[in-house]
Amino acid sequence: MADSEREQAVLKKVPKDLYIDGAWRAGTGGGTLSVEDPATGEALCEVADAQPDDALAALAAAAGKQAEWGASAPRDRGEILRRAYEAIVSQTDELALLMTLEMGKSLAESKAEIAYAAEFFRWFSEEAVRIHGRYMVNTTGKGRILTMRQPVGPCVFVTPWNFPTAMGTRKLAPAIAAGCTVVVKPAQQTPLSMLALAKILEQAGLPGGVLNVITGKHSGELIEPLLKDSRTRKLSFTGSTEVGRSLIEQSAEQVLRVSMELGGNAPFLVFEDADLDAAIEGAMLAKMRNVGEACTAANRFHVHESIAAEFAARLAERMGALKLGRGTDHDTDVGPLIDEAQREKVEELVGDAVERGARALIGSGRVDGPGYFYEPTVLADVPDDARLLREEIFGPVAPIATFSTEEQALAAANLTEYGLVAYVYTRDLARAFRVCEGIETGMVGLNQGVVSNPAAPFGGVKQSGFGREGGFEGIAEYLETKYVAISL
Ligand code: NAP
Repeated sequence: MADSEREQAVLKKVPKDLYIDGAWRAGTGGGTLSVEDPATGEALCEVADAQPDDALAALAAAAGKQAEWGASAPRDRGEILRRAYEAIVSQTDELALLMTLEMGKSLAESKAEIAYAAEFFRWFSEEAVRIHGRYMVNTTGKGRILTMRQPVGPCVFVTPWNFPTAMGTRKLAPAIAAGCTVVVKPAQQTPLSMLALAKILEQAGLPGGVLNVITGKHSGELIEPLLKDSRTRKLSFTGSTEVGRSLIEQSAEQVLRVSMELGGNAPFLVFEDADLDAAIEGAMLAKMRNVGEACTAANRFHVHESIAAEFAARLAERMGALKLGRGTDHDTDVGPLIDEAQREKVEELVGDAVERGARALIGSGRVDGPGYFYEPTVLADVPDDARLLREEIFGPVAPIATFSTEEQALAAANLTEYGLVAYVYTRDLARAFRVCEGIETGMVGLNQGVVSNPAAPFGGVKQSGFGREGGFEGIAEYLETKYVAISL
């Protein structure tokens, strides 16, 4: 099959309707939302544009199913997740192509995301049967303490476009394992991956009403009524700190349980004793994974002054050798950015840094022609007041600043309202511990450029949010603890 035929076949197969109470149907207004290919700017297809009534119907379905689903056998829930895991793995090529079409990243990156996303289903299929409580003799010796853990109840999920499948499975898998029902709203740029995922879960035997998917143009109008409805018990959001803040406020009315996976501004520290080869490999991953459009992306490099010039030259050589192109082309390393607004933001931040004295070693900005391409860029001698040291870049731009002492490096790393992840390169064990302990983030990559792992607790501190996804901690977000005081 020719490439374009394969693309059409994948697009044709994915559902375009809302998925509510186990049925696929159009939105009540009959309107649609256009999905675009960021490599060409052209429309790929249309999906349903949900209205507030559809969102409430989705919540009604989730709430109606909660008691039955919460009482289902943990083994059954685990088996559904396991079947879905296997289905995702067996459909990797199709799902990756779909993701590349709507999001832009290279096929290799989309395949890596599909593998990562599927692992959450496997991990939580194993956790579903390990939900447990505690039995304890009271300190007085007379009574007994019993704790049980029960599903939180109907959840609302809002997910971003940058990891269209993994940001969904990282929430859905623990929720399903714990016995919660869900309404999920994917980002409007990338609804197709979530719709494909819902189809897989349906085919894996997930009962209707447990998962409900609404797609639409007007997120605020869809989500606000759900957060103000007393049937909703939890909100889990992945996206920008700005939107997260407003959703926390909206969640206050019903005192919802809230998990927030928000923005980042990851520092990448390279000490003078680092293994420079490893640091360059790690930098390439931490910076260029997902075209730099990752909350975990190394946003700024702080390198010891004695090795900064060599580090910058080597990173520029590696980043300059990457091939830009449509993600579907097999030799593409770097796809387009998600849209024009994102490209303008990257351009603005680079312009600001250069105006303040930064030197571009490689990269000359936007690429003319269709699509939202931006050249990989390395900036040396970035001054302290450059905006891109403080603001999330979300693009293929590596700003390099220098430091003289460990104290300076740590102070620079912590000089941000964000606290998601930091990367630290050093071969000195004592320094490694000092810096890992002193850094104000939820995660640290010590001599490695990727931290994401389904078996580990992913999440941030400060304005990067709260709550953890993945690991043993992940399922706790979807469980309430009930304590029974027993008098004998
Ligand atoms: P965003 O603009 O905050 O959007 C995220 C989601 O929120 C989308 O589904 C969006 O829908 C929805 N949304 C926007 N405004 C809303 C409102 N008023 N009410 C309810 N929902 C609303 O973020 P983004 O640009 O898609 O994603 C990039 C951000 O996500 C970055 O800051 C990145 O760091 C962060 N992120 C964090 C993590 C993490 O785990 N910490 C992981 C990935 C990404 P529409 O599509 O309709 O606007």
